[in-house]
Amino acid sequence: MTNRSQSLFERAKRSIPGGVNSPVRAFRSVGGDPLFLTRGEGAHVWDVDGNMYIDYVGSWGPLILGHSHPKVVEAIEKQARIATSFGAPTELEIEMAELVRELMPSIEMLRLVSSGTEATMSAVRLARGFTGREKIVKFEGCYHGHADSFLIKAGSGALTLGSPDSPGVTRGTAQDTLNGRYNDLASVEMLVALNPAAIAAIIVEPIAGNMGVVPASEHFLKGLRALCDRENIVLIFDEVMTGFRVALGGAQSIYGIRPDLTTLGKIIGGGLPVGAFGGRRDIMQMLSPSGPVYQAGTLSGNPLAMAAGLATLRILQQENPYPELERKSAMLSSGFAANLQAAGINATQTRVGSMSCLFFTGGPVMNFDQAFKSDTAAYGRYFRAMLGRGIYLAPSQFEAMFISAAHSDADLERTIEANRSAIAEIMDSL
Ligand SMILES: *Cc1c(COP(=O)(O)O)cnc(C)c1O
Repeated sequence: MTNRSQSLFERAKRSIPGGVNSPVRAFRSVGGDPLFLTRGEGAHVWDVDGNMYIDYVGSWGPLILGHSHPKVVEAIEKQARIATSFGAPTELEIEMAELVRELMPSIEMLRLVSSGTEATMSAVRLARGFTGREKIVKFEGCYHGHADSFLIKAGSGALTLGSPDSPGVTRGTAQDTLNGRYNDLASVEMLVALNPAAIAAIIVEPIAGNMGVVPASEHFLKGLRALCDRENIVLIFDEVMTGFRVALGGAQSIYGIRPDLTTLGKIIGGGLPVGAFGGRRDIMQMLSPSGPVYQAGTLSGNPLAMAAGLATLRILQQENPYPELERKSAMLSSGFAANLQAAGINATQTRVGSMSCLFFTGGPVMNFDQAFKSDTAAYGRYFRAMLGRGIYLAPSQFEAMFISAAHSDADLERTIEANRSAIAEIMDSL
């Protein structure tokens, strides 16, 4: 029974476009109506009709400790009693900046903002200000938030100009964004050769998590690093999703690559709205008020958000849940693999630590074109079958599945069993 969710959705649609405040929440790509959630505890969430689900969305990544971790809640409560916001400097911001520097040594200086979108948008402006160049390279299938410069579709090939991916984005903006192909260094070499001394930054998700999960090859990332060094291009790792997720030091610590700038979000806010960008001191010092590149925010470094984020990062640092997350995530994906094989389904699983994806395509999945071959209708049926069994997955084929430290082996076993019977249910239609 999801009657209350359905009636809330009808009500929401009268006041909020599409009934939601972020599009994927509307379940459009999987069919059915979204659930309105009301409570979360550990690995579980409850909808307004009282149904409980095992949650693999985790607020789209931030909740690596699960919902309502007691220490995070305590930190928020304690801070709320002292002050929620000043718009003046606080010691908490320094503690956050120092902790991030310690965990990610490529970050020599850090600026705090309120969302991942703000972080990437500001990092690109800073790279442009630093280099005096205007164009940027991004990759098809990578997501960097919803700032205009990122909402650019690739042209028909790597050589053609991009076009706006949304009404409201100007052709002028589109002109300055070039799309490379993920895991294809030659496509980037080509863009750079065709735009000599014009590219300010290359921005990349070092492990892509927004076309489903698609890890970069080491060759690709090392090649981008070398190319940026050679051409004086600012290399930006967008670690909004992967930062503190795949390892405490982010994807950059796994690959052993030092980006010039890093963007952060999600986990750094511990469930509250936070983003950050940081990196080389000489670049960061270009930022106002120490330099000429403008950037600001009324709620930047907000005390409540700092309290939640600091509590989360400190727990991650002290408890090192990463080996356990790896074990649990491997357990889940090998359980799925056995089910898929037994059912004879053509599917591909990708995974890095606690972020994973089940693509309904034979694979391999190394870039957007290959991810896009997935049978999204099959994913929709799978999603609904899982939801009906109390498993809350991301309502899109092209999102990650996240495990938190709060998922128990019993949760995972239940999920593997749900996967087995969901696959059996949708089998005829595949
Ligand atoms: C989520 C995400 C963003 C955008 O962050 P918001 O807080 O939603 O604005 C940017 N980049 C990546 C890689 C993300 O996963």
